[in-house]
Amino acid sequence: NGVGALKIEDAPLPKSKNLDVLSEFHNSKSKKTASFVVVGHVDAGKSTMMGRLLLDLGVVEQRTVDKLRQEADKIGKKSFALAWVLDQRTEERSRGVTIDIATNRFETDTTLFTILDAPGHQDFIPNMIAGASQADFAILVIDASTGAFESGLKGQTREHSLLIRSMGVSRIIVAVNKLDTVGWSVERFNEIKNQVSGFLSATGFQAKNISFVPLSGLHGDNLVRRSSDSAASWYTGATLVEELENSEPSARALAKPLRMTIAEVFRTQQSPLSIAGRLDAGSLQMGDAILVQPSGEKAYIKSLQVDEAPADWAVAGQNAALHLSNIDPIHVRVGDIICDPAKPINCLDTFTLKALAFDFLMPMQVDVHRGRLHVAGRIEVITGLLDKVTGAVTKKKPKIVKPASVARIVVKLESKVPLEAGQRVVLRSGGQTVAAGLLE
Ligand code: GDP
Repeated sequence: NGVGALKIEDAPLPKSKNLDVLSEFHNSKSKKTASFVVVGHVDAGKSTMMGRLLLDLGVVEQRTVDKLRQEADKIGKKSFALAWVLDQRTEERSRGVTIDIATNRFETDTTLFTILDAPGHQDFIPNMIAGASQADFAILVIDASTGAFESGLKGQTREHSLLIRSMGVSRIIVAVNKLDTVGWSVERFNEIKNQVSGFLSATGFQAKNISFVPLSGLHGDNLVRRSSDSAASWYTGATLVEELENSEPSARALAKPLRMTIAEVFRTQQSPLSIAGRLDAGSLQMGDAILVQPSGEKAYIKSLQVDEAPADWAVAGQNAALHLSNIDPIHVRVGDIICDPAKPINCLDTFTLKALAFDFLMPMQVDVHRGRLHVAGRIEVITGLLDKVTGAVTKKKPKIVKPASVARIVVKLESKVPLEAGQRVVLRSGGQTVAAGLLE
């Protein structure tokens, strides 16, 4: 009774099959898994496009959309039905019937996809940071309708592109959306393609990792099915789904020590404490002891699920739900990191960052975001300005860093959090992103 009874030291050894997880994984015939974020200016059509994609792939039924359309019609916004598909799925999840850890998921013949960030969240940027930190690629949605592309460029299109690139995403699919509103003009598509390639290259995306698909999310043209509009016949390239399938997921850090960021904490029939998230690195199996950071508490994995099915093991890149024993829920929070007690991640309250400035930087208060975790801190010292290409110090101890410059800075946090070299973090201040960078 009491918290003491939960201690791992008192627990009998749990069941384990003592598997060689990496060879199990290499011998398994599971589908390729890939995850992505959807970004773009507000009203670019992100939710509508994703709703349509799920409908056309058969993940969502037509009668669900019809029902939503009736509801939308009542408030005079019939076109919103598709956008509500995503919200609807989130709502279903929050009822907690099934353990659906990813925001949304769908399958094609070759790949199991996870949409890491349902667009349209209120607190969009922090969500996007969390999503992008685990994404293999991104879909950037652009509104091609007259005037909208231009205002989007001034708006969030650039900030989002810069953010996802800073979080390590290197592959981007540009969905040039709403082409129905400009009569499928090939000139308009090419004009947008030219401008967007220009700024994506300047943001650090390589040309071979950028592709463009002209589409209409609302009508479902070139998402799963090719457009049947004769005005669109000039396009013979890949559909959005084909582009997704052709994208190679980033290399998985299978042989590295276990790291899993907790995305959800919940109760189930199997266990009073279950957690879910994506494995960033390493592997685990039933019966393993794990360490939760920053609390430093240990627990056993009693059983687990991968992509909602019972499983004996999980590897980097997969979404897992772990049912734990011998731990008090007060030691486990969303954003915490699960690791191997023999190769733990350490908790730091000071770190050095090689940062790309989005805004002016000086010693100042900042919020530090890493994945789902965010903590208040302060830029203590700017150690030096760095050459963007070589990384060599070009100026020591500058007083201020100008936007678009790269600098080495020392950040101090209000509390210790699990952090290590090679992780990417974003610094925000007053609701704006001021820098992003790599922990040294
Ligand atoms: P989000 O803010 O990026 O998620 O954008 P929404 O999906 O909510 O769409 C914003 C508005 O654009 C809605 O009124 C949609 O009906 C409309 N819209 C979205 N995609 C298309 C499209 O392909 N063609 C047209 N004509 N309108 C669209």
